[in-house]
Amino acid sequence: MTKWVYSFTEGKKEMKQVLGGKGANLAEMTSLGIPVPSGFIVTTEACAEFYKLGKRYPEGLLTQVDEKLAELEKKMGKKLGDPQDPLLVSVRSGAAISMPGMMDTVLNLGLNDNSVQGLAKKSNEKFAYDAYRRFINMFGDVVMGVDHKYFEQVLDKVKETKGVELDTELDAQDWKKVCASYKEVVKKHAGKLFPNDPKEQLRMGIDAVFGSWNSKRAIAYRRIHNITGLNGTAVNVQTMVFGNLGETSGTGVCFTRNPSTGENKFYGEYLMNAQGEDVVAGIRTPKHIEELQKQMPEIYDELVKIYKKLEKHYKEMQDMEFTIQDRKLYLLQTRTGKRTAAAALRIAVEMEEEGLIDKRTAIMKIDPNQLDQLLHKRLDPIAKEKAEVLAKGLPASPGAAVGKIVFTADRAGELAQEGEKVILVRTETSPEDIEGMHAAQGILTSRGGMTSHAAVVARGMGKPCVAGCSDAVIDEDKKLLKVGSQKLNELDSITLDGSTGEVIKGAVPVVDPELSGNFAKLMGWADEYRKLKIKTNADTPHDAQVAKGFGAEGIGLCRTEHMFFEGDRIKAVREMILAETLQGRKKALAKLQPMQKEDFKGLFEVMAGLPVIIRLLDPPLHEFLPKEDEDITQAASDLGVDEQKIRDTISNLHEFNPMLGFRGCRLGIKYPEITEMQAHAILDAAKESKNAIPWIEVPLVGNVKEYYIVRDIVEKVAKEKGMKRGKDYWMGSMIEVPRAALTAEEIAGECDFMSFGTNDLTQMTCGFSRDDSGKFLKPYVEQGIYDRDPFQSIDQTGVGKLMEICVKAARKVNPKIELGICGEHGGEPESVKFCHRIGLNDVSCSPYRVPIARLAAAQAVLEEK
Ligand code: ADP
Ligand code: MG
Ligand code: MG
Repeated sequence: MTKWVYSFTEGKKEMKQVLGGKGANLAEMTSLGIPVPSGFIVTTEACAEFYKLGKRYPEGLLTQVDEKLAELEKKMGKKLGDPQDPLLVSVRSGAAISMPGMMDTVLNLGLNDNSVQGLAKKSNEKFAYDAYRRFINMFGDVVMGVDHKYFEQVLDKVKETKGVELDTELDAQDWKKVCASYKEVVKKHAGKLFPNDPKEQLRMGIDAVFGSWNSKRAIAYRRIHNITGLNGTAVNVQTMVFGNLGETSGTGVCFTRNPSTGENKFYGEYLMNAQGEDVVAGIRTPKHIEELQKQMPEIYDELVKIYKKLEKHYKEMQDMEFTIQDRKLYLLQTRTGKRTAAAALRIAVEMEEEGLIDKRTAIMKIDPNQLDQLLHKRLDPIAKEKAEVLAKGLPASPGAAVGKIVFTADRAGELAQEGEKVILVRTETSPEDIEGMHAAQGILTSRGGMTSHAAVVARGMGKPCVAGCSDAVIDEDKKLLKVGSQKLNELDSITLDGSTGEVIKGAVPVVDPELSGNFAKLMGWADEYRKLKIKTNADTPHDAQVAKGFGAEGIGLCRTEHMFFEGDRIKAVREMILAETLQGRKKALAKLQPMQKEDFKGLFEVMAGLPVIIRLLDPPLHEFLPKEDEDITQAASDLGVDEQKIRDTISNLHEFNPMLGFRGCRLGIKYPEITEMQAHAILDAAKESKNAIPWIEVPLVGNVKEYYIVRDIVEKVAKEKGMKRGKDYWMGSMIEVPRAALTAEEIAGECDFMSFGTNDLTQMTCGFSRDDSGKFLKPYVEQGIYDRDPFQSIDQTGVGKLMEICVKAARKVNPKIELGICGEHGGEPESVKFCHRIGLNDVSCSPYRVPIARLAAAQAVLEEK
């Protein structure tokens, strides 16, 4: 019989896949002798089986739950539903990868009209009926699908009738009334009676946790974080402890180090006389953990001992939940703490220095994608001095965000879709807001602490967030943000500094990030291990300079056409396109040549001594012609030609499928004078620069003969200049057409280097248009047809296979050939690791992703062992 249920004493931390992260760690803490309320875990496998069976329990599950419950009852000396002294439990979800706030927890399960009296006898009536109404509310909401607002309405009415404002002002009799009304609410809105039988409550609770695995918000969370391949969620059933038994009870959340800065200092928040959810929900503003030292010194000392033990044991920064029940401390959760990128780096570097971990572990600890946060912009310090700071909240997630105010997650999504930059402004956020938070530049809330939903989620996403800004009065209905006498409306510009918590009026300029301190140190460690060279895609000396600052070792792709749009050039380019004769084209090209030469000189100068791959003209010519009527009129007058002539040319160049059309080397073959001009410009620039290493690259080759033609043109130009291949310049091909990959044996022998253009290669291998696939790829990924969008992360099975074939063949005929990749994939960690595994020499990515690629390349080496 499959084992579907484990008690906390049977599990360990290595069993996350089966017990979920929460369950595995509760078990681990139990075996470390840390005080954890007892309980048991229904496995993630049971959840998977539940779905496989069309939402039915697998055989044996219920019997095993009954057995474990009986064991628990025996251990606690209490029985579920007992009218004298009832056992109460929580029902908690927890998958192998933590998805905070994504799934629902039910507390105080086991209460009914009888057992609540037992609880009242053992504690007091007010507490017991308060616990009961919380249970009916949570159970009604989470398990039976009754909107929380209906309960809220009842409670508000009771308070109003009594003329009080706070929940705490209600007495036992009031809570009794609330409980009775809550049951009516359930009856009315769920169409069913609230279940009295605790066993039925438990079964329904387990159902609900299983169900929450496929809730909209859980699915969205997994999609946003690329979480795939999990069984489902486990269900933790755990004896309740109460932080709301009075002033010697409380509850809190704490971290072994500061999750924002990484500082090695105990960090956290707590509330006295409160239940767990109260801290996270941001309803009351919590106290700093240091105050607990004064308030309950013994408990504080015990907590310190426990956190140190846990961090040493896990060799990781921990995020813990604790509850104090009448001067007794319990741990309710521990997990690897989420942290900002800056904190992650500091923690990794300092743990290495403390001797807790080695360099390899430190490198493996950092999620390369997370570095993106540090590669974002900061507020320009000079502009900031003059800025009008409206208010200050908590610095919940660092970085600068500038955008237009929106008050709902939906609106954020809508406007972001239209390309607007928005700031999501809300009283507090909830899991329903996830998509909108993802779409926003930054998040501002008026309530909640550093561990509120907004703060935790923002840090996970790497979004700047200012939380708990209590000076801000947010009216979501009226779309109004009031700070003192200032009023801001929807779409007004606002700036957030998530590092300081400042909220600033208007749009403040931002500055580029830099690589220093712990970041630089860890990058240095990564460089010791990695084998891939990291180059950059850059078209301007400025981009090249930025990339070099981040450690780029050359340019892996310069798109020459990007230079064609600036200033006078576009005029010359259009002149060339409109010319009807060779003579005419040459005349126009002659104007372009000196400009191109200067561009290349700029790049060679920055990258002196490092290879610079220059790709010959690639895009279809129509891209250089105007589209709108007024632009056509303007161009006609600039060029001194008839408007009709431009229109005719546009319609001549029209293609049904431009991506498969007249572009790439096809241009330079039909118009060899273009290739010739570019060869002159590149080679002259190289001659006039110090230590230039030009690698000339032919785009969109599919047949070796295409490559020959272009190569011969370049060679002829070089000969005229007395320049030699392999000494003064190098030649190679892009691999973007599947045919090129399949015939690499023919092409590679003639190339000094080859570079995969994986955007086009993906397009042509999968048959997905790069420009239109957005429409259907999202549902494809959701249904798991592709694990990831193949334009974001290399489709290793298909496109990757083609790459492998190509690499093998190329190395066979030309062992010295340099192989690289220059599509957008070059900065995506999983793709970088793949490139290492198939034996490429280098990857090239956009300047801001160079550090990400450096780290991923090092991790690829360490993962091999
Ligand atoms: P999440 O994954 O959203 O954090 P949890 O399962 O951790 O959900 O539970 C939500 C809150 O309820 C937490 O604050 C937790 O500490 C509290 N809680 C859960 N189980 C118990 C329990 N048995 N006794 C007391 N508090 C509990
Ligand atoms: Mg929790
Ligand atoms: Mg291409």
